[in-house]
Amino acid sequence: MKAQYSEFGIDSRILVLSDEILSGLRARFDGIDDTAESNAAKVLAAMRDNRVDAECFAGTTGYGYNDAGRDTLEKVYASVFHTSAALVRPQITCGTHALALALGANLRPGDELISAVGAPYDTLEEVIGIRPSPCSLAEYGVTYKQVDLLPDGTPDLQALKSAISAKTRLVTIQRSRGYSQRPTLSVAQIGEIIAACKAVKPDVLCMVDNCYGEFVELTEPSDVGADMTVGSLIKNPGGGLAPIGGYICGTRECIERCAYRLSAPGLGQEVGASLGVKTSLYQGFFLAPTVVAGAVKGAIFAAAAYEALGFRAFPPAAQERHDIIQTIELGSAERMLAFCEGIQAAAPVDSYVRPVPSPMPGYESDVIMAAGAFVQGSSIELSADGPMCEPYNVFLQGGLTWFHAKLGVMMSIQKLLEKGLVTL
Ligand SMILES: *Cc1c(COP(=O)(O)O)cnc(C)c1O
Repeated sequence: MKAQYSEFGIDSRILVLSDEILSGLRARFDGIDDTAESNAAKVLAAMRDNRVDAECFAGTTGYGYNDAGRDTLEKVYASVFHTSAALVRPQITCGTHALALALGANLRPGDELISAVGAPYDTLEEVIGIRPSPCSLAEYGVTYKQVDLLPDGTPDLQALKSAISAKTRLVTIQRSRGYSQRPTLSVAQIGEIIAACKAVKPDVLCMVDNCYGEFVELTEPSDVGADMTVGSLIKNPGGGLAPIGGYICGTRECIERCAYRLSAPGLGQEVGASLGVKTSLYQGFFLAPTVVAGAVKGAIFAAAAYEALGFRAFPPAAQERHDIIQTIELGSAERMLAFCEGIQAAAPVDSYVRPVPSPMPGYESDVIMAAGAFVQGSSIELSADGPMCEPYNVFLQGGLTWFHAKLGVMMSIQKLLEKGLVTL
């Protein structure tokens, strides 16, 4: 193994550091494997109970009427998420699309939407109309309020309860912190938020943006009362194999509206050919608990290694995980560059490319991104990115295997070492 890693040019001191760190993480990793084992069994049981067979993988074209494999996949998702229905489609192009669909389908003119955990993910600002956009919810007469988190990053349940009014139709709860610096919510915390909402208004809909959170814990937001749980198939639940897609798991009433919005009133879930992607969606879902475990291990390893080198990690290495995102405060533009070069150099695809910062719509500073993925933009695959500004936080996520995540982190340290940006 040492010979293999020196083939990559990794300094032997980095291997020693990695071994030391890993010996301290063994018990932790065992716990992550236990979670993956339990979630893998949950997925397998759902596939067995819904009688998945080879016919499920047959592609359909045109309208996609009677696509039994598509319908069965939705039953499998509904079984795993313990919901009465699910919409799992390649026609849902990404996570933002799935969230926009869930919101647009279940909010009517005059309704009020509340975000229970402060500002939502960047791309939702235009969906909601916080930043004006054609076709935003605001344009269709849906009003918006947000309840900010308390200074310690926990939900302000008192303020949320008083914010809910007769007009409030839907409360959105974002599980992962995304690219903000607040803590990610645990499923238990999400349950408390939902209980608080329903105590004030039993018929208010609670939607959870579950992006980056699937299979990190033993339960999902739908297990603690969410009416809709929403995410992207090129993140956790696609297991790295899904080439496209989004999902919404929830109550039959909510899902039916989502399906009417996705296709057309009256058509709903009956249409939507799955072409040739179903095998990848099934197989990716089958692998997802194991893939997510690798990504979580990679995040913890990165946090521990960089803490050992004197950097601040968020969440800190010792903290329990509720999503797969890891931030490391690198403190300088040179370090951001070197870190991303290391992640890129360890990628299975585009390893010869050197990432450079460039302008991005919606960002004030240039953004740097390292990704060498089989599926374009897939962030369950190992990737790193961040805006080139103080405090020079790099966001690291994914890794289809723990070994790849480990190699990527070691390569990032190697690049810092070569440039004299870190001392060992
Ligand atoms: C990724 C993400 C989204 C949006 O997903 P896209 O697939 O990039 O459109 C929404 N919310 C959170 C928390 C995310 O991490």
